[in-house]
Amino acid sequence: MDSKKQFLNPEFSPAFVDSPYVTQLCKITAGLYQHGWDERNGGNVSYRLLPEEVASYSGVHDVKRNLPIAFDASALKGQLYLVTGTGRYFKNVKDFPERDAGLVRIAEDGHSVDLLWGFNDGGQPTSEFPAHLMTHIQRQKQDANQRVVMHCHPTNLIAMSFTLPLESKLFSRLLWKMQAESVVVFPEGIGVIPYMTPGTNEIGQATAEAMADYRLVLWPQHGIFGAGDSMDETFGLIETAEKAALIYSTIQAQGGKFVNEITDQNLKDLCARFDITPNQDFIDGDSLIK
Ligand SMILES: [Zn+2]
Repeated sequence: MDSKKQFLNPEFSPAFVDSPYVTQLCKITAGLYQHGWDERNGGNVSYRLLPEEVASYSGVHDVKRNLPIAFDASALKGQLYLVTGTGRYFKNVKDFPERDAGLVRIAEDGHSVDLLWGFNDGGQPTSEFPAHLMTHIQRQKQDANQRVVMHCHPTNLIAMSFTLPLESKLFSRLLWKMQAESVVVFPEGIGVIPYMTPGTNEIGQATAEAMADYRLVLWPQHGIFGAGDSMDETFGLIETAEKAALIYSTIQAQGGKFVNEITDQNLKDLCARFDITPNQDFIDGDSLIK
């Protein structure tokens, strides 16, 4: 079909699988896999899309299945989420997006979702979908442009959760002090919750509660949850925190003794330069040099 004919034909609309949203999900899941942060079926991503963004695509206008969810998501009723599937491997999403991801709409009663596209082999959303939706509810209260929730298993951040006390201030200050960009990228710091069983509403609630103050929440001995306005921003947030954690791990491998550091005053100067306000509870504390 030539392009003029396509344009004139009101019946023609591109397939959703070819939309920039699915393309982005494929690229991000592949990127997370390549980083080594999503082995096997580790990790999950949900991406809120607006009705007007999907309206012109084909294959998204009928309800294929209705799937129950185990908590009340009525605060999000009518919202659309492109989400990765339970048990799916991030290394495969780019080759099988219609199988390993789905587009769902939160049903009116808030206790189920309508599947509009994807999961074409009978699959369903990630087992962490309640934690994602609780986080979306919380972050939308802080930020009307909230779009993405991303969970993955970054090695060095997880390693730090074995060797350090599980305190948000301690983690935030250490990560800020490992490189100049950290405080600029996450000036509010990082939230740390206790170890909890994944896939439960309890971990979802604890994560969402922490998300009132942070866009990054560490799940000790497991991984991280990140939230943001876009795929790139959320991925970048996690990347920056994990890079800081890698620098910390490398310092420990070099003996762990700090001779030089980014001082509290250096952090304040960075914030002044980039016109951002850091978490005032975290900005002053102990030096790394003992
Ligand atoms: Zn996980």
